[in-house]
Amino acid sequence: MTVIVPRPDAAIDPDRLVAWYESARRDLPWRRPGVSPWQILVSEIMLQQTPVARVQAVFSDWVRRWPTPSATAAATVADVLRAWGKLGYPRRAKRLHECATVIATEHDDVVPDDVDTLQSLPGIGAYTARAIACFAYGHRVPVVDTNVRRVLARAVRGQADPVPSARDLVDVERLLPKDERASWVSVALMELGATVCTARSPRCGLCPMPNCKWHDAGHPPSPRTAKRAQGYAGTDRQVRGRLLDVLRRSDFPVAKEELDVAWLTDTDQRDRALASLLADGLVEQTTDGRYALSGELTAAE
Ligand code: SF4
Repeated sequence: MTVIVPRPDAAIDPDRLVAWYESARRDLPWRRPGVSPWQILVSEIMLQQTPVARVQAVFSDWVRRWPTPSATAAATVADVLRAWGKLGYPRRAKRLHECATVIATEHDDVVPDDVDTLQSLPGIGAYTARAIACFAYGHRVPVVDTNVRRVLARAVRGQADPVPSARDLVDVERLLPKDERASWVSVALMELGATVCTARSPRCGLCPMPNCKWHDAGHPPSPRTAKRAQGYAGTDRQVRGRLLDVLRRSDFPVAKEELDVAWLTDTDQRDRALASLLADGLVEQTTDGRYALSGELTAAE
């Protein structure tokens, strides 16, 4: 067996990083033994814009109910939208249903393992395709999310905050060992950014990264002004969520008046939100002008 000794100035020591991951990683349901590539795909879609804590409960119920692509495809879009609950950005649920249908019908119910095929599936972008290839199949592909980008910026480039660039993928790929440890290094870098090298309070005393340039330079501040996080209250997203809540709670199509009471603040905004839900295919209208979650009317026929 070849013993790989890291260069003294190497940004990472794969063995040390993987050992840290094994001892410090969070016990998340999609990391447990027996989780299938499809279930990892589901977790990646749910995690795209939603924090881990909110995804955990929904994920476990979801994969218990629909453990495979074909089981998911057999559900209605309305069922899927109900189960999505408060995860937000519900178009993801509809795209996940479409993705399940394509995998069930065109890929023998097996999630593809190469990045290009994965990226051709509904709802699967470049990041998610790489994450599935790496986390579900152990392939050596760089996976770069906000957390990995932050670790890269600090440890390798000596910058407080990442500035996303096309170089990120190349630079992360260079950090990966050429052997089977690569996928473990990928998941460890992500976990490190999520739990230790956090945006506001990096805990460098717990960090397994040797020779971190930003730490060694004394944590110089970012020259950029921090962007204020966009609020949720009063946005079209909030209004869409309120309207969907009304439809989720009802087993029957509802009248427009029942939707109207969900948002009384701004009627133009409410109508715009409803129109966007119809345009996105998340909601449908009956011939007598009532509203239901998409697929509900067809399922009732
Ligand atoms: S030493 Fe500190 S700043 Fe550098 S990667 Fe580790 S936690 Fe982040």
